[in-house]
Amino acid sequence: RHKSTSFIGLGRMGYEMAYNLFSKQFKEANDSYFVVCDAVPESARFFSENFLAQFPSARLTIATNPEEATLASNRVITMLPSSPQVKEVYGQGIIPTLKNLSAELTRDTLCIDSTTLDVTVAREVAADVVVMGAQMVDAPVSGGVAGAKAGTLSFLVGGTESSFKEAGSLLSLMGLRIIHCGPSGAGLGAKICNNLVLGVEQIVVAEAMLLGQKLGLDPAVLASVINSSTGGCWSSSVNNPVPFALPGKSPPCERDYEGGFATALMLKDMGLATGIAHKTESPLPLGELAEKIYSQVIQKQPELARKDFSSVYRYLKDTA
Ligand code: NAD
Repeated sequence: RHKSTSFIGLGRMGYEMAYNLFSKQFKEANDSYFVVCDAVPESARFFSENFLAQFPSARLTIATNPEEATLASNRVITMLPSSPQVKEVYGQGIIPTLKNLSAELTRDTLCIDSTTLDVTVAREVAADVVVMGAQMVDAPVSGGVAGAKAGTLSFLVGGTESSFKEAGSLLSLMGLRIIHCGPSGAGLGAKICNNLVLGVEQIVVAEAMLLGQKLGLDPAVLASVINSSTGGCWSSSVNNPVPFALPGKSPPCERDYEGGFATALMLKDMGLATGIAHKTESPLPLGELAEKIYSQVIQKQPELARKDFSSVYRYLKDTA
């Protein structure tokens, strides 16, 4: 087996992350080996064609399944939708393959999962990988598709000190901030807590922007007051849900809420927060309400499921 990197899951995020990673690795060492894999074969082919068009001499191959990718590489990165896919790819593909590798090859294997998924599932999967003798970190990301494309993601990492160090050299080729949050599962814990804040904030900013307009305020005036006062937050200053409330910026609301973080993904993340809160008996009254509201958004206006989650503003306005 060559020293090589496999990337499994070439969706909206994974495609951009793999492209950045492989481009930079190739520029560092043009004899590096790369492997891509996706459940949808066209996605892997599309990546491969584009990458080889730019780097014709790159040693890039397509694995037809995660087993092949694991056999081929000592670095395996996964970027999948959520818990069921991570369970499947690791449980049926990566872990059984590790079992059949020599002890030396297994010891040399590092798995990095950047999916946002259930903390408990992530810890179980990582424990199974470590029992085999390999290393694993959870490394979910913050920064969205734009950050993935620009290589400016933040990685929130959970795992041992040594696996964090090993993973860091790859992650720094895809992101700017690589933060060791603690042991296995801690990266996901941080990610889920952050998105809990974000999900609640985006709703209350929508409420305030609606109320302000009822009180006769110009949205741009209100946004500038909030953004320079104690209510200021990303949901208002970057992702404000009201068109033209942020002069000089163009948040998703000015593109009919296209191209941001999908409401369906936010609903998934709120579900991860309320799920783990139940298990740990942590109170989450606002989180539970926010989960219910995002779920209603999608139920009542299914077209908003794939639009940016700031479209909760449109839902509130329409149902007023
Ligand atoms: P996506 O649905 O676009 O991509 C997932 C990819 O995984 C798809 O290409 C799919 O075909 C592939 N896949 C699914 N099952 C597979 C399997 N069994 N084997 C191999 N490939 C498989 O999702 P995305 O937007 O890229 O998000 C990925 C993860 O990143 C999610 O957990 C999401 O919550 C998180 N995230 C997304 C964003 C964002 O802005 N999109 C931001 C931060 C974090």
